[in-house]
Amino acid sequence: MTLKRVAIIGASPTGIYTFSALLGGETPLAIAIYEEADEAGVGMPYSDELNSRLMLANIASIEIPPLTSTYLEWLRDQPAAFLARYGVEKAALHDRQFLPRILLGQYFRDQFLELVSQGKEKGHLIAVHETCRVTDLEARPDGVALWTDGKSSPALYDLAVIATGHVWPEDDEKPRAYFPSPWSGMLDAEIPACRVGIMGTSLSAIDAAMAVAAQHGDFVEEADEGLRFDLSDAESGLTITLMSRSGILPEADFYCPIPYEPLRVATKERIAAEIAAEPRRAPRPHLRARRGRDRGERPRLGGRRVACDARRRQLRRRLFRRSRDARSVPLGGL
Ligand SMILES: Cc1cc2nc3c(=O)[nH]c(=O)nc-3n(C[C@H](O)[C@H](O)[C@H](O)COP(=O)(O)OP(=O)(O)OC[C@H]3O[C@@H](n4cnc5c(N)ncnc54)[C@H](O)[C@@H]3O)c2cc1C
Repeated sequence: MTLKRVAIIGASPTGIYTFSALLGGETPLAIAIYEEADEAGVGMPYSDELNSRLMLANIASIEIPPLTSTYLEWLRDQPAAFLARYGVEKAALHDRQFLPRILLGQYFRDQFLELVSQGKEKGHLIAVHETCRVTDLEARPDGVALWTDGKSSPALYDLAVIATGHVWPEDDEKPRAYFPSPWSGMLDAEIPACRVGIMGTSLSAIDAAMAVAAQHGDFVEEADEGLRFDLSDAESGLTITLMSRSGILPEADFYCPIPYEPLRVATKERIAAEIAAEPRRAPRPHLRARRGRDRGERPRLGGRRVACDARRRQLRRRLFRRSRDARSVPLGGL
């Protein structure tokens, strides 16, 4: 029997979940996986080449769809000494923890290897090409031609899945004072204790700040004081300023104390009051545009969008101020 040939380009979360879904089908397939990194499965954001132990994944076991086992089950199977190398205490593991990204990368790697072996047992033909960059693809009437580094003739597949994730700007100028992203050499660069400005206040900004901070001091966690940063040289003049257009700090998207706390901002009563205060329905967009045209005006959808964005920003700022007053901004886990 000729098996359908499928290529997966990129063996990271998208590639792995695709692979897992393909293996779940009844019909055996010939699946080839191409990964330009040395180890398939780890994933760019979770590789130890690009991340330090201090950088946490903002996704917990409870949120990660299990592959062959849940993240927590996998963690519980690891030796305590292995986890301790990542600063993780085995006895304290639970499914809502934010753990180092490179540990998550190890989980995805192990899951990938397990899927390969399970897939082979089910009768699929599986080829894993590591350190193998796909340089081009061509969709042809009879399938997909795929070129890799150093090969002049293409491999042919019936289907190809492109799961190549992020592309980072390449910038090799050295020495330099500007990094377009934390992933353009910043993690390896020696950054002196100077005045550092970071555009943005979300996850990449935290990565950039961590890359600098880790070179000039230590984070110390104490039960009574919370988290403290000790600068190695208090006179060094290091300052890190994160700049934000909205004034909103990042929030780990899984901040949710259990049992749920009562709502303080968007309460049922407040929503009811908002609805009661604005009984008129907004006209539907196509009607709004047509009415404008009837009056000889150009449709003002663009203008409205700007106005809506400004209103939304204003509302977000107001809500943020209220929630900030109600509780501190949760930064843990980032
Ligand atoms: C810095 C950073 C941190 C993040 N942290 C989190 C987090 O904590 N929690 C969370 O839920 N999400 C996080 N994300 C979001 C993240 O994008 C996803 O979690 C996930 O990594 C996306 O998986 P992916 O497989 O689509 O892409 P990627 O993980 O980027 O994987 C793409 C894969 O394709 C390979 N590849 C690329 N080009 C080729 C080629 N030409 N030939 C062969 N192989 C190729 C790459 O080597 C890589 O292995 C983070 C993203 C970034 C950038």
